[in-house]
Parts: sequence; C-alpha cells; structure tokens
Amino acid sequence: MTTDAGATIEAIYADVLRRNPAEREFHQAVREVLGSLAPVLARHPEYAELKTVERICEPERQIIFRVPWTDDRGEVQIDRGFRVEFNSALGPYKGGLRFHPSVYLGIVKFLGFEQVFKNALTGMPIGGGKGGSDFDPKGRSDAEVMRFCQSFMTELYRHLGEHTDVPAGDIGVGGREIGYLFGQYKRITNRYESGVLTGKGLTWGGARVRTEATGYGAAFFASEMLAARGTSLEGRTVVVSGSGNVALYAVEKVTQRGGRVLACSDSNGYVVDEAGLDLQVLKQVKEVERGRVSDYAARVPTARHVAGGSVWDVPCEVAIPSATQNEIDAARAAALVRGGCVAVSEGANMPCTPEAVAVFQDAGVAFGPGKAANAGGVATSALEMQQNASRDSWSFEHTEARLQQIMHDIHARCAEAAEEYGAPGDLVLGANAAGFIRVAEAMHAHGIV
Ligand code: NDP
Repeated sequence: MTTDAGATIEAIYADVLRRNPAEREFHQAVREVLGSLAPVLARHPEYAELKTVERICEPERQIIFRVPWTDDRGEVQIDRGFRVEFNSALGPYKGGLRFHPSVYLGIVKFLGFEQVFKNALTGMPIGGGKGGSDFDPKGRSDAEVMRFCQSFMTELYRHLGEHTDVPAGDIGVGGREIGYLFGQYKRITNRYESGVLTGKGLTWGGARVRTEATGYGAAFFASEMLAARGTSLEGRTVVVSGSGNVALYAVEKVTQRGGRVLACSDSNGYVVDEAGLDLQVLKQVKEVERGRVSDYAARVPTARHVAGGSVWDVPCEVAIPSATQNEIDAARAAALVRGGCVAVSEGANMPCTPEAVAVFQDAGVAFGPGKAANAGGVATSALEMQQNASRDSWSFEHTEARLQQIMHDIHARCAEAAEEYGAPGDLVLGANAAGFIRVAEAMHAHGIV
C-alpha cells in the first residue's frame, strides 16, 4: 500500500461519515470495501483523478416514501418505504426488498452498496440497488400483507422497469410478497412486464432454481474454497444460521454433498440435531406452516431447542451464517476457530463483523465474503430476466449447472484478484478489488455522470 493511496482512502472515508451521519451499517460496508482498495488505487492513479471511489460511495438516487394501509381491525398503519438506486454503470439497478422493523436508510444503503460489487462479480449486466420497509410481516394475515404490498407498489412502480430497476426478495420478502407486488405493478401499468421483478412464481414467469439459488450458491462457494485446499464438504459438520430462504437451501445443498448440518436458528433461538437436520420436517415447519424452529424440535426426537441462545455456540467445521448482519462478532468467531472451524461462507449480507473477519483470516480459516458467497441469488435473478426476455423457461438441471459454473467463476475471479494485488488467498480483498474494477471501468467509459 502506498501512503498516498492510504491517505486518499482515509479522506474519502471521513467524507462518507460526514455526509451520511448515523448510518452505522453503511459506514461499516464502505469501510470494508475501502480497506481493500489501497493497492488498486496505487496501480490506477486515474481512479483518484476522476474521483471514482467518491462517486461509487454516493448513490445515484435515494427514494423514501409513505406507505399507508389498513389492518384487519380497520386501523390505519403507516410504514416507511425505501429504494436506493446505487449504481447503474453495468445495467439496470438490481437488488432485493427487505421488510423488517429494523429497516432504515442506513441498512438499505449498506445493502445497496454491497450489491453494486456483488452484481459486478457475477459478470452479468446488472447494476446495484436495494429497498424495503420497516413494515413487520410477522403475525400479519395474508390480506394485511397484500394490502401493504399494494400500497408499497403504488408509489414504487413509477421508479421501476425491466430496463430501469428490478427488485427481488430479501428478509421478509418471499414468493407471496413478490406475487402481490407484481400483481399491483401489472394492474397500475397495464403491462405484463415479467422482467420487472425476480423471484416470481414458476407458473407466471419465475425461473427454476431462483428459490434455491442463494443457499445453494453459498454451499457451492464453500465447496470451492474447500476444493482450493484439497478437501470437500463430504463428512463435514456444518452450522447454518437462520431458517429462511437462504438457510433452508444452504442446508439442502450441504446435505446433498455429504455434509451433516447440526443446527439452524431463528430470532427466538436455535435447534440442534446431532443426527443432521431433517430437511423434510424443517421445510414443512418453515415453508408450509410458517412456524418456528422450536416446532421442529417438538417433532424430531433427536433434536433440542435452545431458547434465546446463539447458534454459534455449536462447534462445527464449516459455518454458513444466513440470518442477518453482524451476527458473528470477534468472540463468536474465536469460539468457532477453537471448535475446529475451517471455512466460513457468508450466506447473509455482512453477517460477520470486521473484527470477526480478522479473527478468521488470522487463524487461516477459508473466508468467503457475502458479496461473493451469496451472489448466486442475484446471478440466478439475472438468469430469470434472460428467460423473461426470450420468453423461455429452462430446466432445473440446466439452471443449476449455470449457477454452479457462476459460483466457480466468482471464486476464481476473487482468488485471481487477491493474487494480483499481493494478498493470495484473501477473498475479501479479491472480491472488493475485482468488483470495484469492473464497475469503475464502466463508469469511466460513461464519462462524469
Ligand atoms: P428470510 O426472511 O427468508 O429469513 C431470514 C432468517 O434470518 C429467519 O430465520 C429470521 O428469523 C432470521 N433473522 C432475520 N433477522 C434476524 C435478526 N435480527 N436476528 C436473528 N435472526 C434473524 O430472509 P433470507 O433468507 O432471504 O435472507 C437472509 C440473509 O441473506 C439476509 O442477510 C439477506 O440480505 C441475505 N441474502 C438473501 C438473498 C435472497 O436471495 N433471499 C440473496 C443474497 C443475500 P425470524 O423468522 O425469527 O425473523
């Protein structure tokens, strides 16, 4: 690292803090990327000259709106909607919607910023964006969720389009919500514009493997990291946090590859099953009944539920955190290392704090950052857009093979960039450098816009 590049980065970060006060998660995400860029800036003085980093840190557009709706008791509810259109250098803004009470601008900007580099790493023509609301779908009836989604889309539709901005799901937004959102978009615009949302149902424009893609991709990425070290998932003990879309399909793919998933969780606690989680029961509880992991423990004799604890107290060889940001701190990382953890593949966005990442890297644990390890979801969304554009529908096998190749290529891109910028094996640096350069090159071609 040259001192010049280091000083430039510090100045840029200080400016980000000043311009975006009290957005803690956004600061963390920016810091993480900037921390990798000194060797890149040292080799590319034009990036400093054209203020490429400063421009990348500033979203192209930020939309905040009121979402009024009426609950089942007839009471008026008011939530807040967000869409941050971060960067369109590589294609239309692309990134999910999160419905969770913790959502505010800082969360949406952190996720949007991550998404820019993640999407670049896939090698596909998609820019980065993210959105959501502080609406809490938990405990709400289908009719309430529908009314909320309709109100949300009644404002958001004017900012969307298959060539403009293409949302998908994230925490709290799955197939049901995408269906209600699409229905309202279609009604308002009087257009069957399939490519305006991804994660659609299979009977109305959805793609096979999209549901599975993020979890499968995180498991594929773990396999790639282990293969680079001459080993595999076969016979490994694995812990997956969360029990939502990403977690369930990470469990499925790990199990198919001969790993034994010991535990998963939700926000009330975790379930341990030394026999390996029974996916059929877990899917019934989570996908069909919308239940809790405690319901799994009540049904499976080999399982026990720990209320309120952290799933990261369960030792394992491979960790796939797939719940939410900052769930693994330095102390939990150190405990995982002591328990024999050899690989971490981030299914969630930023689930490990910077201190936890340092603990893993110092201990020689293979570490796959979310913007690489969980990129399978958005990559398969881009495949869904391709199928929508060509009015085609691919088989499960073909789409999964594409996903597997994409995850292989992302791993290779990160490993090559790490090598090129003097940090062999550092996939955090590799992901940030490779993603940044792809976006920066496109931005330069477009001039100062
Ligand atoms: P879901 O809503 O399907 O599931 C989220 C899971 O994480 C639930 O089990 C939930 O438990 C748990 N969880 C959420 N917030 C918290 C919290 N604050 N504390 C403890 N547990 C929590 O979301 P997804 O599976 O779609 O998303 C999980 C992660 O993966 C997120 O970080 C998301 O950004 C990331 N991701 C998702 C992609 C996708 O395609 N869906 C793509 C790339 C990344 P509970 O039910 O109790 O709330």
